Amino acid sequence: MALIVQKFGGTSVGTVERIQAVAEKIQTFRKQGHDIVVVVSAMSGETNRLVSMASEMQKHPKAEELDVLLSTGEQVTIALLSMALENLGCPARSYTGWQIAIRTDSYHNKARIQEIDTGSVRADLDAGRVVVVAGFQGVSESGRITTLGRGGSDTTAVALAAALDAQECQIYTDVDGVYTTDPRVVEGARRLDKITFEEMLEMASLGSKVLQIRSVEFAGKYNVTLRVLHSFQDGPGTLITLEEQSEMEQPVVSGIAFNRDEAKLTIKGVPDIPGVASRILGPVGRANIEVDMIVQNVAADQTTDFTFTVHRNDYQRALEVVAQTCKDLGAREYDGDNKIAKVSIVGVGMRSHAGVATQMFEALAAEGINIQIISTSEIKVSVVIQEKYLELAVRALHSTFELNQGTSVEQE
Ligand code: ADP
Ligand code: ASP
Ligand code: MG
Repeated sequence: MALIVQKFGGTSVGTVERIQAVAEKIQTFRKQGHDIVVVVSAMSGETNRLVSMASEMQKHPKAEELDVLLSTGEQVTIALLSMALENLGCPARSYTGWQIAIRTDSYHNKARIQEIDTGSVRADLDAGRVVVVAGFQGVSESGRITTLGRGGSDTTAVALAAALDAQECQIYTDVDGVYTTDPRVVEGARRLDKITFEEMLEMASLGSKVLQIRSVEFAGKYNVTLRVLHSFQDGPGTLITLEEQSEMEQPVVSGIAFNRDEAKLTIKGVPDIPGVASRILGPVGRANIEVDMIVQNVAADQTTDFTFTVHRNDYQRALEVVAQTCKDLGAREYDGDNKIAKVSIVGVGMRSHAGVATQMFEALAAEGINIQIISTSEIKVSVVIQEKYLELAVRALHSTFELNQGTSVEQE
């Protein structure tokens, strides 16, 4: 008899029939005596549809109004799921983010949860109801609707689990767990029984969208037991855990993440003097554009080439900023490329193994793939390559690091 928070993603609630199937699943947990809080996403495709309607209306819609629009997707699902539960004789009550209230800061489109009032949820649970909460949304201090960034329903679920001290937060989706890489790209990808928070955080921030980054951060910070499972197939799923495996059974590389959302900009022939990096990146930051990777190379003629990457959506704006900076600094020229991709290998096992990066570079060279930028941390190596080689690179690395089904240490 436990309190469980269950989150169902867009495809799992994509049709009326699927919502009915989700209701039946919840009902089986209720019959086992568990208290259930459910968090749902908008029906699949709905948030994208709303985004494109907004951009038809206005080139740059106000973030605040966009949130009012985007939050409607989840409101549809909570009502339909509550009806489906009532049909099964299972008392349920729906809540939008502001009704609960899920209080956030005022950064519209990417707000952060600050506090959750759990009073009404607890009262409903005590009255024997299933509580159905709209994911992805909250309310700012000034009473305006906010949203938490794409994929944000995961974070709503984990934050509710933390606030309610739930026994477990279960993320139900269209795959049966976290895989060594996106199973849509590599057929031989393998489901992991467990993955550490640290690795999951890297995987999520390097592009594996199976969990939103903030949800993993939250779960690590508040020690929430987090599991990823398939909505309609039984199985153990993947547990995100604090525990590291013993060195014996630990693979060097646990997973491969990739991201097609980046673009690269370069300013060439910049005078190599103190303050150049800040003069290039300062205006980028002031334009509210986030920078990911940065590389600087000094040439023999005392000038430097400076390259950095940004989100692809910010590419055109970043090019305009860089054009101006190029003039201001008297640099030789600038260029950009938005047909790049970032591929990363991730694993806590890298800490105790040398030569992992070299093995990665050799595998890419063997496929004739040129590396444009490299960045490393203790548990990851990332490279930027031409986008057209992305799938080839991911598959090559997946087999180099023996991640294919049946080749892992754990499976021996
Ligand atoms: P939901 O709508 O349920 O939130 P998402 O589309 O956000 O689902 O996340 C599930 C998808 O994440 C899967 O369909 C899969 O293609 C993708 N994915 C990317 N990387 C991984 C990975 N390492 N393991 C599992 N799924 C992954
Ligand atoms: N509906 C939102 C999105 O598509 C939030 C979510 O699904 O988690 O990004
Ligand atoms: Mg998601």
